[in-house]
Amino acid sequence: MGIFYPANLDKIVHISQNGTLYQLDSFWKMTAIYDKLKEKYSITVVDTQQANKELFLHFHSHEFVEALLSGKQREKYIESCGVFWQPWLPIVMANRANATLQAVQSLLAGKSLSILISDAGHHTTPHQAFGFGPINSLGIALYSLQKELADKKVAILDLDTHRSNGFSFIEMPNVRLYDLWNQALEKWPVNTKNPNYVSREVHSVTDYIDRLNEVFHDIRVFDPDILIYYSGADVLETDRMHGIPGITEEVFLQREARVVAFAKEIGTKLMISIGGGYVHYIGGEKDIQKSRKKLVSYHLYTIKEAIKAYSLQ
Ligand SMILES: [Zn+2]
Repeated sequence: MGIFYPANLDKIVHISQNGTLYQLDSFWKMTAIYDKLKEKYSITVVDTQQANKELFLHFHSHEFVEALLSGKQREKYIESCGVFWQPWLPIVMANRANATLQAVQSLLAGKSLSILISDAGHHTTPHQAFGFGPINSLGIALYSLQKELADKKVAILDLDTHRSNGFSFIEMPNVRLYDLWNQALEKWPVNTKNPNYVSREVHSVTDYIDRLNEVFHDIRVFDPDILIYYSGADVLETDRMHGIPGITEEVFLQREARVVAFAKEIGTKLMISIGGGYVHYIGGEKDIQKSRKKLVSYHLYTIKEAIKAYSLQ
C-alpha cells in the first residue's frame, strides 16, 4: 500500500467577505486526514521543488498553464474555480499533480492499493478550472503515464454528488469513466462526445442504489486492472451542498464499504482520491468543529475500509 499527500496544501488560503483568511473545505480537510493517518501509517509527502510546465501540459492547454504559472489572466483560466491565484499556487499544484502521478505509478509498480490524500480536480477541463479544483491532477497523471498504461484497463468511478465534467475530458481508449451525480452547473463544460464516459443522473436513494448496481455490473464486465475511486461525501442528504434525498450516514457508509468490497472482489488494484464533502458553518464554534470532525471521519472511514480489505490476502 502507498499513501500520498501533496505538501503545503494548507498554504492555499481563501478570503471571506469580511476580509478574514480561511481555508476552503477541499484543502483543510486533506491536512486533517493526513494528520490523522500519519499517526499510524507511513505517508509519502510529495514536495516538488519546482512547478514543471511540461507536467501540466500533458493535460492542460498552453493558455491554462501559462495562467497557472504566471498569474496572468488568472481570472479567466484559474480563478474561475473559486480558488484565488496566489504566488505559491503553481508549486502546490505541482505537488498535487505529482502526488496523483505517484499514486498511479505505485500501482503500476506492483502495489495493490494507493491512497491519494487530495482532490483530483473532477470539474476542471483542459482549458479552464472549475469547482475549487485549480488543476485536473488525475487527467495530468493518466496522460503522463499513457505509455505505461497502454496495456492496462483503467476504470474511474466518480461518486461525488456533482457531475464529473472535468474527468469526462480524459479521453483515452483504455480508460472508462463511470459517473453517478445529481448536481451540475450550467457553466461546467462536459465532454459528451467521449465514448468512454458513462454518466447517470440520480434523484433519490432508491434510484441511486439501482444505478450503482448497474455501474458495478458494467465495471465487472469491463474488468479493469486499476479502479480509481473518487469518493464524495457530499452525497449525504445532510451535506451543506444538499446531497441526495435519502442518503443518510448509514447509506453513505454502506456505499463506501460496498465499493471497496467490490473492488477487492473483482481483483482490481484500487486507488482512492478524496472528493467533495462540506462543513456547515452554522451555530457556534463548537458546532462547526463537530461538523468538521464528522466530515473527516467520513473520509477516514473509506480509507480505513480500503486498508483493511487490501491488507487481507
Ligand atoms: Zn461535489
